Amino acid sequence: DSKDYDSETESVCPFCGVGCKVSLKVKDGKVKYVEGINGPANEGRLCVKGRFGFDYIHHPHRLTKPLIRREDAPAKGLNVDPGNLGTHFREATWEEAMDLAATKLKTLRDEDPRNVAGFGSAKCTNEEAYLFQKFIRQGFRHNNVDHCTRLCHASSVAALIENVGSGAVTATFNEVENSDVVIIIGANPIENHPVAATYFKQFTKRGGKLIVMDPRGVGMRKFADEMLQFRPGADVSMLNAIMNVIVEEELYDSQYIHRWTENWEAEKEHLRAFTPEAMAPICGIEPAQLRRVARTFAQAKAGLIFWGMGVSQHIHGTDNSRCLISLALMTGNVGKPGAGLHPLRGQNNVQGASDAGLIPMFLPDYQSVMDDDIRAKFNNVWNSDDFSNEKGLTVTEIIDQAYAGNIKGMYIQGENPAMSDPDVGHAREALAKLELMIVQDIFLTETANYADIILPASALYEKNGTVSNTNRQVQRVRPAVTPPGEAREDWKITVELAQRIGLNWDYTDVSEVFAEMKLTMASLDNITWDRLETETITYPSLSETDPGQAIVFGDGFPRADGRARFTPASVIPPDEAPDEEYPMIATTGRQLEHWHTGSMTRRATVLDAVEPEANCSMNPRQLKLMGIEPGELIRLTTRRGSIEIMVRADRAIAEDMVFIPFAYVEAAANILTNSAIDPYGKIPEFKFSAIRVEKI
Ligand code: SF4
Repeated sequence: DSKDYDSETESVCPFCGVGCKVSLKVKDGKVKYVEGINGPANEGRLCVKGRFGFDYIHHPHRLTKPLIRREDAPAKGLNVDPGNLGTHFREATWEEAMDLAATKLKTLRDEDPRNVAGFGSAKCTNEEAYLFQKFIRQGFRHNNVDHCTRLCHASSVAALIENVGSGAVTATFNEVENSDVVIIIGANPIENHPVAATYFKQFTKRGGKLIVMDPRGVGMRKFADEMLQFRPGADVSMLNAIMNVIVEEELYDSQYIHRWTENWEAEKEHLRAFTPEAMAPICGIEPAQLRRVARTFAQAKAGLIFWGMGVSQHIHGTDNSRCLISLALMTGNVGKPGAGLHPLRGQNNVQGASDAGLIPMFLPDYQSVMDDDIRAKFNNVWNSDDFSNEKGLTVTEIIDQAYAGNIKGMYIQGENPAMSDPDVGHAREALAKLELMIVQDIFLTETANYADIILPASALYEKNGTVSNTNRQVQRVRPAVTPPGEAREDWKITVELAQRIGLNWDYTDVSEVFAEMKLTMASLDNITWDRLETETITYPSLSETDPGQAIVFGDGFPRADGRARFTPASVIPPDEAPDEEYPMIATTGRQLEHWHTGSMTRRATVLDAVEPEANCSMNPRQLKLMGIEPGELIRLTTRRGSIEIMVRADRAIAEDMVFIPFAYVEAAANILTNSAIDPYGKIPEFKFSAIRVEKI
């Protein structure tokens, strides 16, 4: 009787990749508050986003009816007032909107199936991601489907698949309880994975040695034994120098290398040139510290390496990850308690969406689209004709082809490329050129401004399905409330659209999608819908009673010969060097209160109240030199464009750097960023743009 809510539902936080389990307390059909519950990733804990960032789902801007662009609407642009859609869009019935969407998709397909491409979403469930990639592959016979992994960890996944045979983490972050040394590089978990950071802090409190490497003096430095604030873009020179010490001082694990790896001799010879003395001027770290760190990590009983987008978002992002993999392999730090490789995932379900095949080169479970037998297996399950054996186009390639007029229609589910893509002015022009843009989302995002048809969808707390976190842990999400108005669950929208373009889909429950996924995804072996009712299961799970394997590859790697590979990496400079016109370096990222493009957190009352204004950060000494007071507006300009933004002083930022969060449309960081990409992971260089700072 003392309860202050009508019902409670267990689900998973919709924001970062930690995957905290939550209990949603509902009163009068609305989520009233959120509590952390005992999931393996959070043990009851939540950060400020999880605890207070939920009420965006009840925001008056929620889309509640299908919308169709008016024939007399103004030219497409970032020009729609969310409070007054009527100038641009008119409300439609689902019947009319779906009929129009399907008819236009079929017309474009009849001309050329490659007219149409799709962006799915890491904010949706595994089942929704699976259906979305199937929609493009079965419906249009090609692989031009991708999602935000291309913008965050595509290079990490490329290096992991190449060298250890699997794109997922080799150890959960909870394994730090068995580590004695941990490296965190290019990641800011205190702001971006706050609950994971609590485990890292506990690790240091019980005496574990923490080594933090980052061009920014990120928050974890306060807990670190070693802080290596290296020059932006100099990751490979620093990591190769550390590995050079391990080679020269013979600190490597010969037994492990001999038993489980290949290409060691080539790696060893390659590293000889990268002495600490030769690399110190490039990476900005003293040789003595490089040596100390090398010895500490090599002599650890168990060492774990975590990395984030500071590593991955470079034109040499794959090389950065190759170095981290080599460091773990040469010291025998994979496949045992407390040891491993862990790229920290940024979005709630980016791991699961990637596993479910929402990427252009891989079908579910990273099975190659180029393999005839694999495609035959999928076509058999899908009762479908064959589709292309060519790797599809990635996010930035699809945008370029839209700009060139070769892609004419897009189906975009829950992604916001008009904010998230590099050189976003170019991306917005490309979106404006599309003949058909179908956007399925919960808000009129910046991307939906360019849409022809908008389909109102569901937030995570309105969904039924599964998600997979950074730890490979599969968890159920459940609807606590119903979508507002006529909005629908995303999977139901995709199923109806598939049926209307002629596909043989007859799912009536999302559990049927999960059952189909199990037919082609060995990672889901022993993971059943029934078990997920009550359990979180880490894949791989070896039996129907196994909660799953926190550590993998203790008995070999999923590569042809069971061995991991060393792939040497050389120093490649960033794509654009600072010069007289653009003398400083811009880097972008997230901040504690705002998540990604801000479409959700800027509509969450508490989070928006705490951090309401677009801001960037610079070193106070540099601000003083330039005669700029903290709190003033400054102008930031790169070769792509210019923004005006309030600046804060932050001693953790190097004097030649500017840090810009990318959540703010009024000062969109990606107007500035460089679209040059890593040749392997095809990830853009968000972390390094030459920039000019001006006092206004
Ligand atoms: Fe949500 Fe991540 Fe915060 Fe957990 S740490 S509450 S998953 S944002």
